[in-house]
Amino acid sequence: MNSKNTMKVAYYYDNHTVKIEHEAIPEPGAGEILVQTKACGVCVADTMEWYLTGRAPLTLGHEPTGIIAKLGEGVTGFKVGDRVAVHHHVPCLICEHCLKGNFTMCDTFKTTHVKPGGFAEYFIASALHVERETHLLPDSLSFEVGTLMEPLACVIHGIRKAKIEPGDRVILIGTGAMGLMFIQALHYYGVRDLIVYEMLDWRKQKAEEFGAPHVFTPFQNVGEEIERVASVFSKPGAEKVIVAAKDLSAMRMGMQLAAKGGTILFFATPHPDEWIELFPSKVFFDELTLTGSYSADHLDTRIAINLLSNGAVDGEALITHRHPLENLSDAILRTAGREQGLKNVIVFD
Ligand SMILES: [Zn+2]
Ligand SMILES: [Zn+2]
Repeated sequence: MNSKNTMKVAYYYDNHTVKIEHEAIPEPGAGEILVQTKACGVCVADTMEWYLTGRAPLTLGHEPTGIIAKLGEGVTGFKVGDRVAVHHHVPCLICEHCLKGNFTMCDTFKTTHVKPGGFAEYFIASALHVERETHLLPDSLSFEVGTLMEPLACVIHGIRKAKIEPGDRVILIGTGAMGLMFIQALHYYGVRDLIVYEMLDWRKQKAEEFGAPHVFTPFQNVGEEIERVASVFSKPGAEKVIVAAKDLSAMRMGMQLAAKGGTILFFATPHPDEWIELFPSKVFFDELTLTGSYSADHLDTRIAINLLSNGAVDGEALITHRHPLENLSDAILRTAGREQGLKNVIVFD
């Protein structure tokens, strides 16, 4: 462990204002571990001012990896020096939601966090984190790629929520970093009939590089789009539609491109005041299922680590920008912007 006894901690006020404070390195209590942060991904959720500024100042960072620096009393199964990824939310496993398998709806899940957060030189993983959501990183995974465990787990959660099965015809709308992970994860899950929609040219090219067989800019006229889908799939509509874009027009289009009996997964996070009109007749006659997907549970994180370490998802290709903690605001602004670039990661010495 570092001989110094203070650490840098980033406090978020808004996307343009992040202040670095020096604080005492915390001591792990019974069952806890202290992790020296090596990398932490910046997520779109770290850029949503409407969601964050009311609670600011905040130490964000929910995609951390690092080295175990100290073990609290009674910790077994880990040792100082272990390379780990820690998922920030942990379910209780016994509440009504957990008993139904809806772990991400659990109150304990929503209130658990690593402390103070991944945008600090050290953080504490609680006893619950140590028990259920602290994962050894295989040697083949760098700390940087390990930060993708959480976002990829969210993608896997979406695939599971939408009940995507091998052979499904799938439409994916939006190819940010999450969309690109969807392309590769869907391939792993046996999806070969895939149409991807994207507006930005550089992202369309990325989608092709990540293996998407058909990448389109949507037609203005949805009728024409419905026809194009039918001709690509040789059948009308997609059995599963994933909307991984925040634009309401993407959600509207997604609902119109679903096949009879299809499922539309709302994956992106819109502002709570936004709303869209529905097509109740289509929902009724076509027996559509609309569903959402929030965060990722302890099953998803384990699958995500496998997919990153067996190369099914190319983590290295997703990380385009590395920043020191001092430049967190730049990394957040880059993540919120639409310039070229995929995943921004904060790296520590
Ligand atoms: Zn995230
Ligand atoms: Zn629970």
